[in-house]
Amino acid sequence: MQKYQMYIGGEWCDPASNEWIDTVNPYSGEVWAQIPKGGAADVDAAVSAADAAFRSSEWRGLTATQRGKLLCQFGDILADNAESLAEIEVRDNGKLYAEVLNQCRYMTQWYQYYGGLADKIEGSVPPVDKPNILNLTKHEPLGVCACITPWNSPLLLLAWKAAPALAAGNTIVIKPSEYTSASSLEFARISQEAGFPPGAINVITGLGADVGEALVRHDKVRKVAFTGGEEGGRSVNSAAADDFTRVTLELGGKSANIVFDDANLDQAVSGAISGIFAASGQTCIAGSRLLLQDSIHDEFLERLLDMAGQARIGDPMNADTQVGPITTEPQYHKILEYIEIAKGEGATCVMGGEPVLAPDGNKGLFVQPTVFSNVTNEMRIAQEEVFGPVLSVLRFSDEEEAIAIANDIKYGLAAGVWTQNLKRAITVSERLEAGTIWVNTYRSTSYTTPFGGYKASGLGRENGMESIKEYLQTKSIWLSSGGSVANPYMRR
Ligand code: NAD
Repeated sequence: MQKYQMYIGGEWCDPASNEWIDTVNPYSGEVWAQIPKGGAADVDAAVSAADAAFRSSEWRGLTATQRGKLLCQFGDILADNAESLAEIEVRDNGKLYAEVLNQCRYMTQWYQYYGGLADKIEGSVPPVDKPNILNLTKHEPLGVCACITPWNSPLLLLAWKAAPALAAGNTIVIKPSEYTSASSLEFARISQEAGFPPGAINVITGLGADVGEALVRHDKVRKVAFTGGEEGGRSVNSAAADDFTRVTLELGGKSANIVFDDANLDQAVSGAISGIFAASGQTCIAGSRLLLQDSIHDEFLERLLDMAGQARIGDPMNADTQVGPITTEPQYHKILEYIEIAKGEGATCVMGGEPVLAPDGNKGLFVQPTVFSNVTNEMRIAQEEVFGPVLSVLRFSDEEEAIAIANDIKYGLAAGVWTQNLKRAITVSERLEAGTIWVNTYRSTSYTTPFGGYKASGLGRENGMESIKEYLQTKSIWLSSGGSVANPYMRR
């Protein structure tokens, strides 16, 4: 069994507690590795190392171009390691290898994109309304940034944070989920090979309530980039507010996938399925509320059940598998609990609704792809994030009603719209309260495109040009070329 260490200040170290957490393969149900159970002392060591690196000539002395090149080289080395990183990630979170391998290859683009952006962050020279003054505006890094990631896509979601943070000249402390820490520790090993100075990248592991909270509360942490659930997001937001620490929060969702009667139904069925059953529904952007127009409701549902009913459940490493296991035991119980809640609320279970045994005697936890019809928007199954393969189907009569139902929820991460009517596509996209709207497609994201939530789905944006500003602060420099001495008792 593999026993991991944490990566602090360029060194591999055991936790101060000398305690370890078992990490379980969600498909086999077996413990395959142990990760350190860090605590406040480890957090302090990691943040101090990151702070020292931030002030060191090895890091601060790099020009923006050199820093950018280092990130690009890092991206290349990560790409060379994509297969082994993907295998580790599947062993940890049970997502399909085919999807995770794609993600691990794709995430290298974040290091290339932000590496390229590092030396294009320009300040300005405002035409200030004072005589004999040259006024300069420049953007500076913040210092130590904490990157806190969840278990569903650890390395991809880390790239969304680490790449802009480092490109902007910050140093980072990574805190992966206690369920899926191994790939971030491998990431640290690769960063060593890429030649980052000691302390520029650190990884600490352990529980959210100890290590995560201590990290957010550390007085030398200047920014927290957090992806996770609503409860964790709320406590990170309050803890950070105490010290005026900046935050980016990428939280949960309950996204509406809206199918109008003028849609291409074949594409829409496939989009609805990918919206909820890909990654076993364990994705923040899951289209977990399917809104069907009355006139196509029955036909669409029949087609969807037909296709989803054929999904192959099994070993995530197997190329034929379409639905893998549930990543964690608490998540498995939460999904089954929501299935019971939906039944109790009067929704009709038209597919699935039961746990499934893992194939070949494995001990993994599976839930059947599940569909509830006759869901109404006030039901908990329509309003709360399940984070599993459970679809709620609602009906609507016209555009107005579709928009009203879609927006009548506390979340606002994403939404899908299926229509061939351009005017409708534009109007509905503009009126939906969500950070990402997909029209006739679903579940696409890119390093080029801002991503984040409206309402309770988060604060700030990741990806795209604007995300680097989340890791910078602006300084104004006033340079006087002399002139007459002003009255010292008056503000200039
Ligand atoms: P989680 O909130 O339980 O944990 C996320 C991370 O935060 C973990 O590393 C955890 O250890 C840490 N953490 C937990 N409590 C903390 C605290 N009080 N202080 C500091 N750190 C803390 O989330 P999860 O169960 O790992 O992930 C699932 C959730 O993540 C879902 O709600 C999902 O929607 C959300 N998610 C959002 C996005 C997005 O981009 N919006 C992407 C993926 C997942």
